[in-house]
Amino acid sequence: MYKRDTIAAISTAVGDGGIGIIRVSGSEAIEIVDLLFKGKEENKLINSTSYKAHYGHIVERESGKIIDEVITLVMKAPKTYTTEDVVEINCHGGIVVLQKILNLVLKAGVRLAEPGEFTKRAFLNGRIDLAQAEAITDLIRSKTEAGLEVALKQLEGSLSNKINDIRQDIVSLLAHLEATIDFPDDEVEEFDPNQLDTRIGGIINKVEDLIKTSNRGKILKEGIKAAIIGKPNVGKSSLLNALLREKRAIVTDIPGTTRDIIEEVINIDGIPVKIIDTAGIRETEDVVEKVGVEKSEDLLKEADLILLVLDASQAISEEELDIVKKANDKDIILVINKVDLKEEIELGDIELILDSKDIVKTAAIDNEGIDKLEDTISSLIFRGDISSNSDTLISNIRHKNALDRAYGRLLDVQKTFQMGLPNDFITIDLRAALESIGEITGDTIGEDIIDQIFADFCLGK
Ligand code: GDP
Repeated sequence: MYKRDTIAAISTAVGDGGIGIIRVSGSEAIEIVDLLFKGKEENKLINSTSYKAHYGHIVERESGKIIDEVITLVMKAPKTYTTEDVVEINCHGGIVVLQKILNLVLKAGVRLAEPGEFTKRAFLNGRIDLAQAEAITDLIRSKTEAGLEVALKQLEGSLSNKINDIRQDIVSLLAHLEATIDFPDDEVEEFDPNQLDTRIGGIINKVEDLIKTSNRGKILKEGIKAAIIGKPNVGKSSLLNALLREKRAIVTDIPGTTRDIIEEVINIDGIPVKIIDTAGIRETEDVVEKVGVEKSEDLLKEADLILLVLDASQAISEEELDIVKKANDKDIILVINKVDLKEEIELGDIELILDSKDIVKTAAIDNEGIDKLEDTISSLIFRGDISSNSDTLISNIRHKNALDRAYGRLLDVQKTFQMGLPNDFITIDLRAALESIGEITGDTIGEDIIDQIFADFCLGK
């Protein structure tokens, strides 16, 4: 572990709060906070045992003025968040107090930490790998319990273990292949071609299994986007209201767009389903007919799931049929609304395109069929994605890209081998695959990318 300078930052969220925490980490952390801290007992922090809290005050050195009543927590290297000496000053939560204490700490000779720098130190000092470090931001930012669980498992190292296992497989294969290249006449045992093929296949399968979890991982982390579309008056608003009534809606304002979009999120089996609000489009009346297929195509593109609402009391229109065809590569649920009225609708061709379980009959005004609709959404979300190793999920696009690259190289390895080309051709691709895999845990990754990853962290983390 190299010696790094001592850093500090406010680690709690900005705003009024009961308490706020300033975190100081580095070899001089305890000494420097000692200069500002006046404990009830005369004990100096420097003599403190690890994980001990001390009650007292932060005092301005020149004037002797008390700034706040605090509790300082002393944690000694190496068993700390950063593996360095860490002191946390628990003070009152107002931003002025926090800022003032932080300034005193900085003035005493500490540098202000960059975003994510504490976690970066934990990584650089080898306490956690890159995937675990990223799990910490995921954990902080998780919006759902399901997402939180994914992040926690990743933090505990479940993904890292899988990645290391794959790396180990590749390394041992490489070692053997390289031995046969370097010492062709020695007694290095030649591989039985069948055995080699099986080993390459085994590695490919492991990588493929992980890639397969990425869809579900993304859904658990981010939820899905659903669009409710249909002609005017078929009952889209009523349906949305019925869905919102059943589940508590979280409404978030997203500023910065030309008009503020209201995102309504319903929670289905722990998965946030964001309803893309078509209010703006509804203003110009009709998505399907007037604004035309073009606009609804945009909507189709943006959404992961389409709820196409039809009026049971009317015959189906060409445009509606068109939407079903256009949405063919998406998940689409046909909601036949107003089934309390006399049914005139003929599903005809649609039934051939869609599975019957993706057609749900509702009477939105009576809340009828809403449970069934939720079940259908839920089964579409989870369909087929629950693989045998679903306890470890890929939920980070950086990891997914690295796995995709490794996968491509491994397929090349397989091809090269099956074509009977010499071993050094195989090892080139195998090395490249190893490198891509190693990017996930940060074993093979450039400093600039590491900096980029941590720059995305919150301040004080
Ligand atoms: P939108 O234009 O597609 O958003 O449709 P609305 O939700 O505004 O509904 C249009 C009209 O249909 C309203 O008068 C609703 O009360 C009525 N409506 C909605 N759902 C049903 C239903 O299930 N049965 C019946 N009979 N009327 C409904």
